[in-house]
Amino acid sequence: MAQNLLASLSDSQLDLLHRLADESAALGFPIYIVGGFVRDLVLGRPSLDFDLVLEGDAISLGRSLVSKFGGKLTVHTKFKTAKWFPGLSAFRPSNLPTFIDLISARSETYKHPAALPTVKLGTVADDIRRRDFTLNALAICLDGEYFGELRDELGGLDDLQNGLVRVLHPRSFVDDPTRLFRAARYEKRYDFKIEPQTLALIPEARPLIAKLSAQRIRHELDLILGEPNALSILARLGDLDLLKPIHPSLTWDVTTWARFQHKVNSANERWLLWLMSLTETEIASLNQRLKFTASLLKSLYASSKIFAALSAFEDLKPSQCVERLNGFPLNAVSAAALIAQGKSRQNLEKYLSEWRHIKPKTTGDDLKNLGIAPGPKYQEILSRLRNAWLDGEVDSENEEKRLIENFLKETG
Ligand code: ATP
Repeated sequence: MAQNLLASLSDSQLDLLHRLADESAALGFPIYIVGGFVRDLVLGRPSLDFDLVLEGDAISLGRSLVSKFGGKLTVHTKFKTAKWFPGLSAFRPSNLPTFIDLISARSETYKHPAALPTVKLGTVADDIRRRDFTLNALAICLDGEYFGELRDELGGLDDLQNGLVRVLHPRSFVDDPTRLFRAARYEKRYDFKIEPQTLALIPEARPLIAKLSAQRIRHELDLILGEPNALSILARLGDLDLLKPIHPSLTWDVTTWARFQHKVNSANERWLLWLMSLTETEIASLNQRLKFTASLLKSLYASSKIFAALSAFEDLKPSQCVERLNGFPLNAVSAAALIAQGKSRQNLEKYLSEWRHIKPKTTGDDLKNLGIAPGPKYQEILSRLRNAWLDGEVDSENEEKRLIENFLKETG
């Protein structure tokens, strides 16, 4: 079966795996390809996510790969892991990963629930046991005559075939509550089911979500929002009551469901669609918990402001729309445009496609040539001209000039 699994790889991928295995063998390190790559291969969705686990020092293997084939290496000395970027010269570029993760097999113990584990070097069997679910606990051996042999000590293959997400032991969620979110992500990504005994372990771990660091929990939410079916994953988390324990403002209901029907491409756009109906105070409080990036936070505040005033956009003149929206991140305006209706929607769309680009023909230099002394007046005149264009009051350079003359008469 496993031979067949690797047989579905391209010649260049097989060649790459053989070369990695040969280098590892030269150092005396047994080597396996593990995790998501094997899972997706079994599911007939080959990926380029090459995670290699070896019983030995991954950094030494990385160094010998670089000295033989070139490319670049980044290392994480504490965990004895390395990332090798083979570069384009060593192998044919098609169907090959841009980097390969090299991991020294290790075992983990958890001193406290929800904390980061204590790690020490171990065997591939140890490495498999520290994983989240049986579906991620499959490994394919790459050593010599065993090349292609599947190691399935924890029943991962059966679970994959039966469509089940199953933890490896009853303390799994307590050790690491991020796995609660990962379970829902895999379940909905593959249209699987969380296995009943695994499901029954959720309530005990739910209160420990509060102990997860901002960075870890946000990372999991980012991964979820980056999935094509983020909608069903969040709905599932809502059903399992796993959102409120993160923060009371994180909810999932029919309104959010409707908003997620809009097709967007990135996790950040989904954050905006999800949270734009929160008040600024709620966003500030949520940010205490999740520590958003500065740019996402700015967009969240902006989309909340636009959302709160959405109906007002219906009656605004183009110049007023521009005045209100100027300076707001475009992704915030786009997100609001997606959910707005009628005239408000048209106005937001027009702002994005046309109005924000409109500028008067006259420049600061022209004003100087007209003998107007530089100062705040310039800004005033230029804004007035832009607004006149936006609202259809002028449509030529001559008309602009007339407007400037009038302005100068009015203001002396
Ligand atoms: P994806 O297709 O989502 O990238 P992946 O399996 O490659 O899936 P990663 O998040 O890249 O997922 O993790 C790599 C591997 O590390 C997983 O296959 C899993 O075995 C393991 N892993 C990741 N997070 C955890 C965790 N919290 N607990 C245990 N193992 C984990």
